[in-house]
Amino acid sequence: MAFTSITDQITLLHSQIAATESQLLNLRAQLSAAESRVETARHLEQAYQGGFPAEWIGETLSRWPLSGEEYKRYGRQMIMKEVGLHGQLRLKQAKVLVVGCGGLGCPAAAYLAGAGVGTIGLVDGDTVEASNLHRQIAHSTSRVGLSKVESAYEYLRELNPLPNYERHPFHLSPTTAPDVFSAYDLVLDCTDHPTSRYLISDTCVLAGKPLVSASALKTEGQLIVLNNPPKPPGDPTGGPCYRCVFPKPPPADSVLSCGEGGILGPVVGVMGVLQALEAIKLLTSPSKPSVNGNGISPFEQQESPRASMLLFSAFSSPQFRTIRMRARHASCAACSSMATITSQHLTDGALDYAAFCGLTHPINLLSPQARITAADFARLPRDGSNILIDVRDETQYAMCALRGSINVPWSGSGQKWIETALQKGALPMDVAGRELFVVCRYGNDSQLAVKAIQDVMEGGAGPSGTSVNVRDIRGGFRAWRAEVDGEWPEY
Ligand SMILES: [Zn+2]
Repeated sequence: MAFTSITDQITLLHSQIAATESQLLNLRAQLSAAESRVETARHLEQAYQGGFPAEWIGETLSRWPLSGEEYKRYGRQMIMKEVGLHGQLRLKQAKVLVVGCGGLGCPAAAYLAGAGVGTIGLVDGDTVEASNLHRQIAHSTSRVGLSKVESAYEYLRELNPLPNYERHPFHLSPTTAPDVFSAYDLVLDCTDHPTSRYLISDTCVLAGKPLVSASALKTEGQLIVLNNPPKPPGDPTGGPCYRCVFPKPPPADSVLSCGEGGILGPVVGVMGVLQALEAIKLLTSPSKPSVNGNGISPFEQQESPRASMLLFSAFSSPQFRTIRMRARHASCAACSSMATITSQHLTDGALDYAAFCGLTHPINLLSPQARITAADFARLPRDGSNILIDVRDETQYAMCALRGSINVPWSGSGQKWIETALQKGALPMDVAGRELFVVCRYGNDSQLAVKAIQDVMEGGAGPSGTSVNVRDIRGGFRAWRAEVDGEWPEY
């Protein structure tokens, strides 16, 4: 072996030893840093009031059950004793279903999302319209035409990206409701019609979910927490359901939707905000944690609260009143031991909620001879040979009306309305050779008024002209706008 090759080998070994020693140093430094971190962690663990159950920590591999962002975001509510860390964790574990993304659902969902409810489900089959925007605060001008569920989702995700949002962009039906409800702990009824109220309540009773129900119309609202605690049907210690409070639906022709009856934005907003408040109260109580193998069950240790109904009236004083509710009704069709409504009924479609509520929209009370289209009415001469009675209320009549028409608002009772119409001269005693026409906003009330006139004429108690020719304008001013005048205001 040549002398030079041995010296080369020695040089190589020296440099290899130097490199390995440096590597070793590096490893020692890393080890020491890791040991020091562990030591600090042990030290801190003793310093903190930890003791959080392992389920709460979950897979975060953190000492803390919430992330840094969550502490920051929810800190203002967590520092209140009514919520606290335990309450916040309950909210995070909770799954809440909001049925209806309108005037109630928008503010309710916004506050639930803001508060950090872990899963929020949104149900609605409608699309956003410009007439919704004065009260449905999650929607916006640029989202007119979009599905309400998608629009609300956009808004809520922007407000708080942390919760899971489940989208159900369809109208609830007896066949779909049980499946949708089964994935949630609590349901908010934010709809605006008795048919959906009975369906939602029945499903909640059968699925064992508490229900926060609210409604609002014109200047008034009401709020009630139902089926709380959510005991099985037949258990009298469970909270009353919607049928216990309202065993029979209101008469169909007395039910107004917001489109027909009108609604003041802040009124429905107040009710939606109160729904969110009741939901947060339900989800964060009891104050003591109750953790079992399945995680946190929000309702398991709940004391039985007495149900009460909160009534809000914007133009009354005081604006709020509370009515204590009775316990479950002993013969309730949904929640008593005599219940006739079963899961089987619901899912096989045997329950017709529209029929139960007497709903036959659009109503069709009259023979074809007693009706005229808006387009045909527009072609009639304006020579005094016909009389037009407008049965919308005074406020709508003042917004827009046809020249020469007589305003006799539909009162809900045929007899009373006829008396007013006679007083106003809308039903003249001398009607020979003249024709009467009745119009309203959508063409429902006008049919009721025509029917009332027909009834008094048959009874012989009406105007003396006997064979009065009276017809309703089919579809009311909505049809007028579509068939005759596109500039008629759409409101
Ligand atoms: Zn009941």
